[in-house]
Amino acid sequence: MEKFEEFSTYFVQETGAKEGAVSPVITQSASFGYGDCATGEGIFDGSIKKPLYSRVGNPTTAKLENILAKMDGGIGAVCTSSGMAATTLAVMSIVSAGDEIISIGGLFGGTYAFFTETLSRFGIRTSFYDVDELEAIEAAITDKTKIIFLESVGNPNMRLPDIKAIAQIASRHGVVLMVDNTITPMSIKPLELGADIVVYSTTKIICGNASALGGAAVFRAIELEGEEKFKSERYKDIHKFINKMGKMALIPNAKKRAMRDFGMSASAFNSYLTMLGMETLPLRMDRVVSSVEKVAIALEKAGLNINHPCLEAHPHHQRYHKEFSLGCGTLLTIDMGSKEKAFAFLDRTTLPIITANIGDSRTLALHMGSTIYSDFNEEQKAFLGITPGLIRVSIGLENPQDIINDFLQAAQF
Ligand SMILES: *Cc1c(COP(=O)(O)O)cnc(C)c1O
Repeated sequence: MEKFEEFSTYFVQETGAKEGAVSPVITQSASFGYGDCATGEGIFDGSIKKPLYSRVGNPTTAKLENILAKMDGGIGAVCTSSGMAATTLAVMSIVSAGDEIISIGGLFGGTYAFFTETLSRFGIRTSFYDVDELEAIEAAITDKTKIIFLESVGNPNMRLPDIKAIAQIASRHGVVLMVDNTITPMSIKPLELGADIVVYSTTKIICGNASALGGAAVFRAIELEGEEKFKSERYKDIHKFINKMGKMALIPNAKKRAMRDFGMSASAFNSYLTMLGMETLPLRMDRVVSSVEKVAIALEKAGLNINHPCLEAHPHHQRYHKEFSLGCGTLLTIDMGSKEKAFAFLDRTTLPIITANIGDSRTLALHMGSTIYSDFNEEQKAFLGITPGLIRVSIGLENPQDIINDFLQAAQF
């Protein structure tokens, strides 16, 4: 189907109800009465499908979870309080002390810090690779490797992975592939490409207007016949969930091994706001992926040093047209050569909001080295592509010529 048309119908139809309140009902309650003891027992053992307690599930959030699961062709989703919470939930539901993670591409600063600073304190080691180091990635897999983690678009290095090739490596070795698809919802469908789990910060383009922090992990169905990956010794902690819940197993695994104990639950009100955002996601996505190309091309023509794969000089230009035909989201970067020049340039702009967010209705911009990556050492910055003059821009819904004009006037010094 062309562009995001399949989702245009689905999101609005699914969000609105045909009877009663059209807008999703906000179930603003932490707890739920069971009525009688036998029902309480049934709710706890899973035989009765009614709300138990909002830390482990809320009806408003469940509606959003269904929409997100269907968007990616997953068996289910678990929404969380933030994108970092979604990554934490998905990772912590699978790893134990002594395990290893292979992280490819990007990487979003919070995820990088989670892997290097936090998980390392619990005896979980992460190794990092560029998207094109396929041989080294395959060679790095050991018996202890539990997750290959990938960002669909390097944020902010703008490098594009060959997701299919990496999924084949993961599949050959029976290792879980987890994809952070925050930047490319709908345009990249990781589960179809061979991933097992997709994580999102819904704070970004999915909600899209800075009104609600949120995240989600979407899980694939376990194949009851012929499933090798999750039935292997490598994932033995998941076997009890497969035995009890069959193809749904990754959902109770995430809820019992992470959500129940860490409590990174989404609030009903944030789930509501996120659904309102999703109604227009296909329209907004269509607009921004076209605008980001216009802005990248115009600014490059004017002599600015722009990084975006739509530009011919980009090493993944071919991959962009072939595998990312619906675009790669809202981001581009500008390298001004030095921190001083980057500051002077950004402070002369009048249109973008200077902030750490991305995927908003409004154009956002940020100098990377002095903000998100200020704690990182030179080696880490080099790996992540953080140069002194690097500015990340997230293109919004404004008229693209207005965006171009503002950046061009700011560049005249
Ligand atoms: C923002 C972001 C996150 C974290 O999301 P929060 O909602 O801010 O916790 C994770 N991954 C990517 C790619 C992001 O851009």
